[in-house]
Parts: sequence; C-alpha cells; structure tokens
Amino acid sequence: MAKHPFTVVRGGKLLDIPKRKAAPVDILIKGDTIAEIGRPGLAAPAGAAEIDARHRLMHPGLINAHTHSPGNLAKGLHDRWSLELLLTGAKWAHIDYSLEDKYLSTQIGAAEMVMKGCTSAYDLAAEFPLPSIEGLSAMAQAYEDVGMRCMLAPMVADISFFEAIPGLMGRLPPVLRKEVESFKYAPWKATTSQMRKALQKWRFEKVRLALAPTIPHHCSDDFLIACRDLAKEFDVPIQTHVAESKVQVVAGYQTYGTSLAAHMDKMGLVNDRFTVAHGVWLDADDMKRLGDRGASVAHNPGSNMRLGSGIADVRGMLDAKVNVGIGTDGASCSDNQNMYEATRLASLVSKVQGPDWQRWLGTDEALTAATQGSARALGMDKEIGRIAPGYKADIVFLDLHHINWIPTNDPVNAVVHIEDGTGVHSVMIGGRMIVENRKILTVDLPRLAAQAAASQARRAPLVGPAKKLYQQLEKVVGTFCPGLAKEPLHIHRYGASHHSH
Ligand SMILES: [Zn+2]
Repeated sequence: MAKHPFTVVRGGKLLDIPKRKAAPVDILIKGDTIAEIGRPGLAAPAGAAEIDARHRLMHPGLINAHTHSPGNLAKGLHDRWSLELLLTGAKWAHIDYSLEDKYLSTQIGAAEMVMKGCTSAYDLAAEFPLPSIEGLSAMAQAYEDVGMRCMLAPMVADISFFEAIPGLMGRLPPVLRKEVESFKYAPWKATTSQMRKALQKWRFEKVRLALAPTIPHHCSDDFLIACRDLAKEFDVPIQTHVAESKVQVVAGYQTYGTSLAAHMDKMGLVNDRFTVAHGVWLDADDMKRLGDRGASVAHNPGSNMRLGSGIADVRGMLDAKVNVGIGTDGASCSDNQNMYEATRLASLVSKVQGPDWQRWLGTDEALTAATQGSARALGMDKEIGRIAPGYKADIVFLDLHHINWIPTNDPVNAVVHIEDGTGVHSVMIGGRMIVENRKILTVDLPRLAAQAAASQARRAPLVGPAKKLYQQLEKVVGTFCPGLAKEPLHIHRYGASHHSH
C-alpha cells in the first residue's frame, strides 16, 4: 500500500441507484479512500496501480446491519425453532467455545460475507457469563485478518431468558429449573467494567466497538442506564433487539406496562446512535418515537421468517422517518450470511403484506437500505455505503459476463432481485482486493474447513447432554411461549391472517 499509494480502477460501470443506470467510469483511489471519479481515461499519478474493471458492475459494498459471529460454527444446526427456542438452545448451539473457536467462528462468517459482496458488519457477539477483552480481541483480529470492517458490540444481559419471560420459570419442573438457574450472567457492574476496559484499551482499526444490551427486559434498568452512559462517554453506538417477537412485546407490557421501545426511550437510550434490531412488532407510536429521535432499525427479513417472528412493517418505519438498514442475523437463526439474499427478501416480503403495491418496498429502497441505511446504523455514513470521493474504497465488482447479468435491463432490479452472490468477481475493502477473480485472498478455505471440523470434534462430547437438556426445555418453552404469542395485541405481524394454522 505504501509502495502504491494510488490505484486507478478503469472502465467499470458504476451503479447509480436513484437513476437505475450504470455508466463506465474510472475511479482514482488514494490509500484506502476514493479520491476522484471521472470519465474513462481519467488522469492518474505516475506509478498508480491499475485495475481493469471492464465488464464489471461496481456497487458499494453491502453492509450487514445485524449478525452474531458466534453463530457461524452453529450454522444449519437446527430447523424448526422460534426466537424463544433459539434462546433456550443457545447453550447447545455455542457450547464450550475456546478463544480459538471465537476467532474461527468470526472468521467463517467474515469470509462468507466478503465472498458474497459484504464489506462491513454490525456484529453482536456474545460471551458468557460476560464479555472478555481477550474474546473481543480474538473476534476483532479475525475481521482484521480477513480484511473486513466491523462494528463489534458485546451482547450483554444481567437477567436470563428464563427469568425475563414472566411466568416461564414457574412452569419448569424443579430439576430443569435448577439447571437453568445455573445460566447466570455476571452482575451488571462487572460486565460494565469489562466493557469500559475494552473501550479504553481498544487497538483495532477496521473494527470498532459498540454496545449491545441484548434485549430490554433481559437487562435491569440500572444496567440499561449504565450502558447508555458508557456509550455517551465513549461516543459509541448501541444496538438492542427490540420487539423482535410477539412474545417479547407481550412480556414487555407485562414487565413495564409499556412497549419495549417506549421503555428504552424512558431509559434514555433512543437517539441517533441507537439501532433496534428487527422491530417486527413495533407499533406506529414506537416507529414515530424512533423516527423523531433519528434512530435506526436493522431489518432482518430472512431471520424473521426463519424463526416465525413475523413480517416487519418497513414502509411504516420509512414513513415515520426511521433509518432502515438490512441484516442477515446470525447463522444459527438465518444460516447463510448472504446480504444479496437478505436484500432480496426485504423486497419480496414487503410485497406479500397487502395489495397496495405503491406501499411495497422498491428495489432502489432495498438497496439503499443495505448500503447507506446500514452505514448510518453503524454510525459510519460519512465513510462507507457509497462510492463517492471522500468515502472508503469499499467496492464490489460484479461480473457482467456471469449468467445473472445476461442480459442486463434495470441494474438496480438485477442487483436486488437476480444477483445471489455467484456473480461476485472481486471485492475491494479500503482500496485492497480481498476477493479477486472469485477467490478470497486472505483466507485458506481448506484450512478453515479442517479447523471447523477439529472444533466440532473437540466439542462433540459436550453436545449430546446439551442437546438433551434443550429437548427437555423445548417441551415447556415450546408450549408456554406460543401461548403468550396468542394473547391479543393491537398490531398484527404474522403471515397467517389469524395465526390459525
Ligand atoms: Zn440478533
């Protein structure tokens, strides 16, 4: 990089989302930043490295507004589970992760994201019973080694899932109750002090830290306030799962007497650095509250369908001036980390919500959400999400000779509705090629496969008992929570008309 501070990309077609066009341009990059965009033949300083981008369509790197790196070693683990069953199975899914496993799980996800056109992620990474500087550093190192950007937010709580759902603990037989009572998080003061230390000592460049009190009612009010104050002190964003499932919303009313978003607002967390993950069950007042405060929602349509959480009202959010980004969610709840698929699903799922087609999400809106919207959720909208002078050179090069692009009509429709990641030719992050000619340059995939297999083998003896415990808990959680979800609520977000199936 020091030897060639300038790079010029010649002849690629640059996607213009509002105009739905792609015209050939040259792009001059200085270091990691776009310096100039001009007509083909743009003058470049002597010695500038040249990249031939003819027959390529260039779009800004997709930005994953919501994922969980620990899920990557657990991808495809289980089929039918709701959010509540997934939370019940967290111990089974992420059993006995060593520091190396934390690195490995992150590296697997980062490699997949980059290979599928994604250049930055908001990663809510969990460690139990509290985050550690070593663990966060291992995950950050994995992103840096892959060469991808990340907003890494330790996902924290001081109340377990079983304690957070009113009445659930009482339904468990005593033996199981004793088991789940051992899933204790660290006291919130210990967790806050770890996060403070991590924020003070952070040494990574491409990976920044954020905070993620995971779910409102999984955190005591004192803890939420401490997170708010810490975020303010270090000027970092916060992301929280709010109103992801109907069970959460019903539990929220039982706990607070208000909606979850109203409670977060009352605690002072809702501002322009706050992102709601999912927000499927936000009502119009919640959306207005978020919009008025400049907050964001990370919309994860794949996960919302996969876990049966419902269908978010993204048009309602946009009408209320909420910033919307798009995410895949973790691999244990939506499996692949393919941002093309997540963006396509955002478009498609909006189209089954009713006959008023003018209210459906357009491909331009979906793609803007997956780039600029997600960038704003990460608090990085002045740096990433666009291909423009002054922005980081995070560019995806799609192969216009790939079958996805033969022929090309409207290129925005094609990126959102046709491209599935197989047309990705190269991916540049900060001026550096990470994927070139369909090969990831920073990860040895056969070695990664061997490491993943070794990790599975090492953890295998513990998986059996953890799965057995899950299956016992599934019987109780799997009947109690759907019961809560059948309680009347003033909004409706399921696909079925009266959840009658
Ligand atoms: Zn999540």
